[in-house]
Amino acid sequence: MAAELSPPFFDGHNDTVLKILMGKATVADIVQGYDAGHIDLPRARAGGFGGGFFAIFVPSPKGSADRMEEATGDYDFPLPRMLDQPYALDFVNRGFEVFSDLENAGAITICRSAGEIGVALEGERMAAVIHIEGAEAIGPDCAELEEFHARGLRSLGPVWSRPTIFGEGVPFRYPSTGDIGAGLTEAGKRLVKECNRLKIMIDLSHLNEKGMDDVAALSDAPLVATHSNAYAVCPHARNLTDRQLSQIAESDGMVGINLASGFLRPDGRMNSDFGLDVLLRHLDHLIKFLGEDRVGLGSDFDGALVPKDIGDCAGLPNLRAAMADHGVDTALMTKLTHGNWLRVLRKTWGE
Ligand code: ZN
Repeated sequence: MAAELSPPFFDGHNDTVLKILMGKATVADIVQGYDAGHIDLPRARAGGFGGGFFAIFVPSPKGSADRMEEATGDYDFPLPRMLDQPYALDFVNRGFEVFSDLENAGAITICRSAGEIGVALEGERMAAVIHIEGAEAIGPDCAELEEFHARGLRSLGPVWSRPTIFGEGVPFRYPSTGDIGAGLTEAGKRLVKECNRLKIMIDLSHLNEKGMDDVAALSDAPLVATHSNAYAVCPHARNLTDRQLSQIAESDGMVGINLASGFLRPDGRMNSDFGLDVLLRHLDHLIKFLGEDRVGLGSDFDGALVPKDIGDCAGLPNLRAAMADHGVDTALMTKLTHGNWLRVLRKTWGE
């Protein structure tokens, strides 16, 4: 592997499966390459993108907007309504089928352990961990969780930026901390315990601050935010305050840096025309609070407007180069690109 493609990235979050579910990409596109989106196999090889968490995200029914258009200045988008469980379950089941289709077509290897990720990162396909972003498909007794685990689920976000029966997500609000709304419900506390029992990683990105405090008090696993940035650099409700970063450090968890322009730029604008020096400010701040062993990538590819200097997963050599120019040495580069993810997953999953 050429120097600019190594070490491979293992990434905390992408929405490629949603692209397929929404008819914006096909499984063949992901295998052969296509001229839209951020991730396909040829571009992954071109950029040294080894894989990551692939999310199943259930969009709100037609007519209610989940995603924002270009936003400038201050903004506060209301939370969408709660989803019905049968609707969400149907969508999640279709998501699991997309994983099988991608694996059968040779695009991904579904990974259930850190060992399997390590092997897959050496191979030609993308390593894929099945993640569900928002637990709407799960009922209050959490019965579906065991079946999802048997089908390969290894990571779950109790909420997206939307209320569920388990807790409340943060709205897309700038400027604002994530201290908005109530903590986990009784069902939410049960969900945390069930995730611990089944060794399913709990993703705190999108959860509000009181909810994260509840997970911190209850969970026996490291605290992980797969795709969030530093509030001190960009005061967005989706980013993490220094107090939250200290909680994550104390639990020996980690944070994946989100490439969404609106969560990187100090002005919160969803505009991709800015330099990677902004991303490096987040990196420095996260390392200051979390240490070198607790920071990785959480790109949000296929779900966010990413900096023009990266563009898509084929542009990741530019991120490696920017980090190297910033003084990141070989040992730290290995940790930031994939080593820290493998470390925290080994701790969380026990294998
Ligand atoms: Zn997200």
